[in-house]
Amino acid sequence: MTNYGMVIDQERCIGCQACAVSCKQENNVPMGQFWNRVLTEGGDSVDTPSGGYPEDGGSGSLDMQYQPTACQHCENAPCVKVCPVNATYTRDDGIVEIDYDKCIGCRYCMAACPYNARVFNWDEPEHVPEGGTGDVSARPQGVVEKCTFCSHRVEEGLDPACVVNCPADARIFGDLDDESSTVSKYIDEYETNQLLEDRGTNPKTHYISGEMSPGRPQTSDKLESELDDVSPWSDGADDVPSDADASEGGQSGGGQHAIDGDAVPHVPSVKSGGDD
Ligand code: SF4
Ligand code: SF4
Repeated sequence: MTNYGMVIDQERCIGCQACAVSCKQENNVPMGQFWNRVLTEGGDSVDTPSGGYPEDGGSGSLDMQYQPTACQHCENAPCVKVCPVNATYTRDDGIVEIDYDKCIGCRYCMAACPYNARVFNWDEPEHVPEGGTGDVSARPQGVVEKCTFCSHRVEEGLDPACVVNCPADARIFGDLDDESSTVSKYIDEYETNQLLEDRGTNPKTHYISGEMSPGRPQTSDKLESELDDVSPWSDGADDVPSDADASEGGQSGGGQHAIDGDAVPHVPSVKSGGDD
């Protein structure tokens, strides 16, 4: 059975906040709310290093580490257990979602979530522009909301917006129950951890730290299967334009790029399955 999850490579993350911004845009998240936040290990504010500044000719110990955080879509989700009206539930594909029509705003789920992943609409949601953004309708005042792994996109075979828009390829999404999926291969190949493992929630977001993964280029907002047709990793040699093709066409544009193997910035050591 499909069981969606995510890998976030903290060594790749550059703290650019593109994931947080694209999440807000795609999911029509109201002003003052964030479903996806990029924390820094040194403190609560943005871009706060940990450690100490150099003093008295010493080298100091300043260190900047980013930890993108959103709903972890826990296997054993405490928020689901405490919801008195079953408004919070786990879908068959493992995504934890909220039925906004059922939510009575009791906020038990917010208290139960150890990851501070949920936000509450105290006021009438305010959107800029007024009509809202993205492909998700606004949630009413008085309900709790949070990251959905962009389930509306996943249902169309697309990756979540944060994954597509991460310029550092720090995020990978896919089926944890499929051992041939890219997420499964990354978890298999790299040292990963889950947040607050001792709570027994079994989060489906896995973090890589210590060793940078090769990344997985998210070249556009397209289906993986479509990307296979133009990818330098696809098997068909005919897919890769030749130098002659490139010179005939002059400068590439409109999404038609001549792909030169040497120009690819990083080639994954785990082959992209194109299946997640
Ligand atoms: S978009 Fe990628 S690199 Fe930028 S903060 Fe988010 S995870 Fe890190
Ligand atoms: S991270 Fe919080 S909101 Fe998300 S499934 Fe786990 S307990 Fe629920």
